[in-house]
Amino acid sequence: HVSTKPPPEPSPLRKAKFFQANMRILVTGGAGFIGSHLVDKLMQNEKNEVIVVDNYFTGSKDNLKQWIGHPRFELIRHDVTEPLLVEVDQIYHLACPASPIFYKYNPVKTIKTNVIGTLNMLGVAKRVGARILLTSTSEVYGDPLVHPQTEDYWGNVNPIGVRSCYDEGKRVAETLMFDYHRQHGIEIRIARIFNTYGPRMNIDDGRVVSNFIAQAIRDEPLTVQLPGTQTRSFCYVSDMVDGLIRLMEGNNTGPINIGNPGEFTMTELAETVKEMINPNVKIITVDNTPDDPRQRKPNITKANELLGWEPKIKLRDGIPLMEEDFRKRLEIPRKK
Ligand code: NAD
Ligand code: UDP
Ligand code: UDP
Repeated sequence: HVSTKPPPEPSPLRKAKFFQANMRILVTGGAGFIGSHLVDKLMQNEKNEVIVVDNYFTGSKDNLKQWIGHPRFELIRHDVTEPLLVEVDQIYHLACPASPIFYKYNPVKTIKTNVIGTLNMLGVAKRVGARILLTSTSEVYGDPLVHPQTEDYWGNVNPIGVRSCYDEGKRVAETLMFDYHRQHGIEIRIARIFNTYGPRMNIDDGRVVSNFIAQAIRDEPLTVQLPGTQTRSFCYVSDMVDGLIRLMEGNNTGPINIGNPGEFTMTELAETVKEMINPNVKIITVDNTPDDPRQRKPNITKANELLGWEPKIKLRDGIPLMEEDFRKRLEIPRKK
């Protein structure tokens, strides 16, 4: 698709710079798993200048090493719970630990990140007139009583449980987004992300796909948390990034579910990983944690109709791509 419209004029300040980016984009949490893949995609467009803000709690500079020193790229160590002064056109606000073991590690910090961090980024958006996208989560549906989950379902969330810092935190973040939109006219976008997997996931962050793949590679038993019949639907990271960019560029505020509707029980997932990576590995059952949602699957009709988006990569095609990355990082080559 070739646009016949001339690109927007850069501001005089920007013109004075030695390169001319048409769009300056802030990515909070850009050193993390999804954030770093998003940065890769945004940097492929020569018209974009990308600023990453991250406190490296769960992310790492290593995920961005190919961009460090690039003239269109800047990396700032900063915690979003503190005010931030930047001039940008778009904000992808991802900063927040996403794995249960990390977000439960310091729950007060998690809720501050979601509430104060989102408030600060909305403050930036308001001051400079930027469009802001929040990566919310399927966790806003809690232990859902509607299946598959549609965006108009209000959810079934325990407000005082051990997961609440994350799911209630994201619910408040969504509320703040809509209040800034209604009260101050801020352009907002809300993505409700369902379980996402792919290369660069933190190897020991406790999420199920990374756990099973690392366990299979290390010849350790795959730990299915009881009962094993609970379901999740897994989206490959390149599909996710594509959906986020379409949402940002489109005309809909959302919330819009972005995820892959292919639904698996955790026992099925373990069996698939075993079959594909290490047929000799054992599958064992272990205790679960409180408030674990029993089922989760996105209805993606909205993403499909409003963004023209649907996931392309099936679980069986994504697992080998992640295995390759994990084998490199663990330095355990495939047995001949
Ligand atoms: P991640 O942990 O890899 O990335 C989060 C990034 O945010 C990390 O780089 C971390 O260092 C940074 N961060 C955390 N707290 C911060 C703070 N206070 N200030 C600055 N930076 C901070 O997780 P991810 O999987 O890439 O998730 C990215 C976003 O997507 C999160 O908002 C998460 O809630 C959302 N999400 C992810 C999934 C998933 O399955 N991966 C599902 C639903 C929602
Ligand atoms: N904020 C920020 N960067 C900005 C503008 C605001 O970090 O460029 C923070 C600010 O510190 C405040 C929050 O964003 O805590 C909300 O800002 P807003 O202007 O909406 O609210 P106010 O400052 O009037 O309370
Ligand atoms: N799970 C599991 N074994 C593990 C880690 C997780 O069976 O080693 C289960 C967990 O009980 C949950 C599902 O996998 O039902 C997804 O957990 P994850 O932490 O990946 O993400 P969540 O969707 O709960 O945020």
